Amino acid sequence: MNLEDYQGIWVFIEIKDGQIAPVSLELLGAGRELADKRKTDLAGLVIGSSVEEFASTLFEHGADIVYMYDDELFHYYRTESYMRAVFDCSEKHKPEVILYGATPNGKDLASAVATDLPTGLTADTTILDIEEDTGLLLASRPAFGGNIMATILCKKYRPQMATVRPKVMKALPREIGRTGKLIKETINLKEEDIRTKVLEIVSETTKNTSIDEADIIVAGGKGLGSKNGFQLIHQFADVLGAAVGGSRDVVEAGWIEHHHQVGQTGLTVTPKIYFAIGISGAIQHIVGMQNSGLIIAINKDPDAPIFQTCHYGIVGDAAEVVPILIKAFEET
Ligand code: FAD
Repeated sequence: MNLEDYQGIWVFIEIKDGQIAPVSLELLGAGRELADKRKTDLAGLVIGSSVEEFASTLFEHGADIVYMYDDELFHYYRTESYMRAVFDCSEKHKPEVILYGATPNGKDLASAVATDLPTGLTADTTILDIEEDTGLLLASRPAFGGNIMATILCKKYRPQMATVRPKVMKALPREIGRTGKLIKETINLKEEDIRTKVLEIVSETTKNTSIDEADIIVAGGKGLGSKNGFQLIHQFADVLGAAVGGSRDVVEAGWIEHHHQVGQTGLTVTPKIYFAIGISGAIQHIVGMQNSGLIIAINKDPDAPIFQTCHYGIVGDAAEVVPILIKAFEET
């Protein structure tokens, strides 16, 4: 592999619920810095159906080039079809770097592409840099339970790929009228080539369920006592317009689904405000939420480890304190 053949910083643009995922715009901001340092182009890679309106706005968010696969085949995210498109585009244009948001789809796609392209993947990156002369991507992420930062390099293979956590990088201010080059791509792929079929999309009935991009998270632990007791967490979250999170123990108890789990084996979150209610503060939980803007803990044990991490702590019974808070916020 001749590394010199690979040029340009790419961002996979995720389109979700009819809009560009915020993390994709954050990655264009980060990618712009890398591209300027390396004196190369920043490209967005858009895959979907009827996506030209999204593709054409990306120049105003920092992209110089946009590669677009616009086909009914890509109406739903499916690993096989999206991975074929990324593979096809990468083979044709040979990027030096591809960045993906560390969202469920971004993680799924990046790891699938990494198995097909002769390259590696750094997952859950929080710091990105690039060597000006060599183009070596320096992708750093917390490791060993958050105790060290590891910088992971891919010296021999291209493209270098990383997933990047949402809300860590900064999007650029939108530059209205900025233009670039839109390249419409096609791929030799038919519906019958794709083994996965989407039969039905079932939306969750609870509100505000996505914790990885929420500004406020109300998270509950075993201190809520039971699945019924955990309803207080949902009520409080609804009043605040917040997402609901949980410790691993409540996930294992079946009080909430796994995609709400915060921590080492769940999601890493960085909301502006994180309520930890009836959560002891085990290190495996702390590593997933310690970078939140403001951490407020409620626990009946004054010696609970969570009080070492939080900015504000209330020592009390959740069953008494949370209803008071709900009432207070309802009245404001
Ligand atoms: P507990 O430890 O049982 O704590 C309950 C807390 O509630 C206590 O502090 C108690 O004082 C308080 N409490 C009790 N009653 C009340 C009340 N009425 N009002 C207020 N407070 C009350 N955990 C995660 O969360 N996320 C992970 O990703 C994760 N990954 C792990 C990976 C590994 C390899 C291992 C070994 C463990 C992992 N864990 C993870 C588990 C972790 O070690 C803890 O067991 C777990 O976080 C504890 O959950 P908890 O705080 O809800 O429960």
